[in-house]
Amino acid sequence: MQDIIIVGAGVTGCALARVLSRYEASVKVLDEGADLAEGASKANSGIVHAGYDAVPGTMKARMNVEGARMYPELCRELGVPYRMNGAMVVAFSETDRKTLEELLEQGIRNGVHGLRILEKDEMFALEKQLNPEAVCALYVPESGITSPYEMTFALADHAAVNGVVFQMNTHVRSVKYQEGLWHLETSQGPETCRILVNCSGGDSGRLHGEMGGTREVEIIHRRGQYYLLDRPEVLPFDHTMFQCPTVMGKGVLVAPTVHGNVLLGPTAEDIDDRLNTETTQEGLDRILKACRLTWPGVQVRTAVTNFSGIRAHEKQGDFIIGPVDGAEHAWEAVGMESPGLSAAPAVGEYLGAMLAEAEGLTKKAEWKKPIPLPRPFHEMSTEERREAVEKDPLNGRLICRCEVVTEAEIRAAIRRPVGATTVDGVKRRTRAGMGRCQGGFCSPRVVEILSEELGVPMTDIRKDSPDSWLLCGDIREALKGEARA
Ligand SMILES: Cc1cc2nc3c(=O)[nH]c(=O)nc-3n(C[C@H](O)[C@H](O)[C@H](O)COP(=O)(O)OP(=O)(O)OC[C@H]3O[C@@H](n4cnc5c(N)ncnc54)[C@H](O)[C@@H]3O)c2cc1C
Repeated sequence: MQDIIIVGAGVTGCALARVLSRYEASVKVLDEGADLAEGASKANSGIVHAGYDAVPGTMKARMNVEGARMYPELCRELGVPYRMNGAMVVAFSETDRKTLEELLEQGIRNGVHGLRILEKDEMFALEKQLNPEAVCALYVPESGITSPYEMTFALADHAAVNGVVFQMNTHVRSVKYQEGLWHLETSQGPETCRILVNCSGGDSGRLHGEMGGTREVEIIHRRGQYYLLDRPEVLPFDHTMFQCPTVMGKGVLVAPTVHGNVLLGPTAEDIDDRLNTETTQEGLDRILKACRLTWPGVQVRTAVTNFSGIRAHEKQGDFIIGPVDGAEHAWEAVGMESPGLSAAPAVGEYLGAMLAEAEGLTKKAEWKKPIPLPRPFHEMSTEERREAVEKDPLNGRLICRCEVVTEAEIRAAIRRPVGATTVDGVKRRTRAGMGRCQGGFCSPRVVEILSEELGVPMTDIRKDSPDSWLLCGDIREALKGEARA
């Protein structure tokens, strides 16, 4: 029996959990994934949008601008990578220029600072690889880049330090309100709570209905595919380069990631299955074609991977955040498509404060600070590396050669408050396996370390989901059995 259950451990659920951990209440977060951030929060562009794109007066516009302003300080506090690299929305015709002028006007109304139109001289001086046919660009100096899953992990860790419990591999099948309590049927058995919060992304429309919400909610699953290119010696673009937005979203971008890779995408395809994250040749071809408009010299020879994420687009087009109309002790953050990553810190504060006041929660006497994350080994100078190895010899054992990740870092990632339990969990927390060889060399060592740290046989370690087997047994034992037969 919990005071509060949050369904969904994406960036929204984790931001809310962190805020609610300030109050005297037991909080549990349930998620069907094997790890945090297994939904849209692990597969997006990682842009902290400044807020010029959302329609003024909407919840999206307000949460976007407030959330983006919180990022620099929050990332510093939690140790999450963030860079305010600025963005450009590029016009390729005089019709596009009109769209930029509208976006400029809209951004000013939303309270975004520093927006202005760049003409050719300034635009090409800032970005040399940009298509010479570009006409002008909307300059967005407040736009930033971050690591969406690292933000989710850090929010969850801070919540866990303050008592929030995270339970993975738990699909919430149904929910019912009876005699003053919420009863949940889950894949891990029943759960009960006083207050229920729906942050379940792609499944949030179904849960909204089951919670008794009277407002009509319809979630459209809109997939976005990407190419991720290897880290180049010199980034082709320092700014996040957008084209003009369409009704389907912000359009295809060419952007540096906060870790120095290059991201191309996303597509926008409406699909039926909320979990279908496959990539298709057609989708990837479409990205390449669209990106050539911004960057005529684009090549995908250096692609290290491609992936896709699914937006939970609510038909009315806005975020729905607050109490569930028509239900008791029921709250929701629904339709959290882009800019949901940018908005998450503000959504956590807004929804958390509203819920705490309405449900009569009181603040704890002490709210513990986050546990500081060690500086990544790959960022250290030679002198700092020498000191790190002296302090912990496991820093002298390089497990991932592509991304320069040490055994000490992998063990620390598994020991975090909501630590890694899968190979992909280690990858996203440390970058081991993120590089050129995509884990070809380091995965076996990561499996061994996970097995030692978690105290389970190596055959129990999974790539991500419970059915993503890596090892099925010991060859020596199998051969012995064969010899006996
Ligand atoms: C292609 C793409 C590009 C984007 N780019 C950006 C960007 O650049 N900037 C930006 O600000 N935003 C961007 N977004 C939006 C951003 O990713 C989302 O708004 C944000 O991640 C939503 O977080 P969430 O926690 O609400 O949802 P999710 O991350 O989807 O989390 C929902 C969680 O609920 C769990 N769940 C679902 N159903 C159940 C159930 N029945 N039982 C238990 N658990 C369940 C899932 O496993 C998941 O972990 C993009 C999104 C996509 C897809």
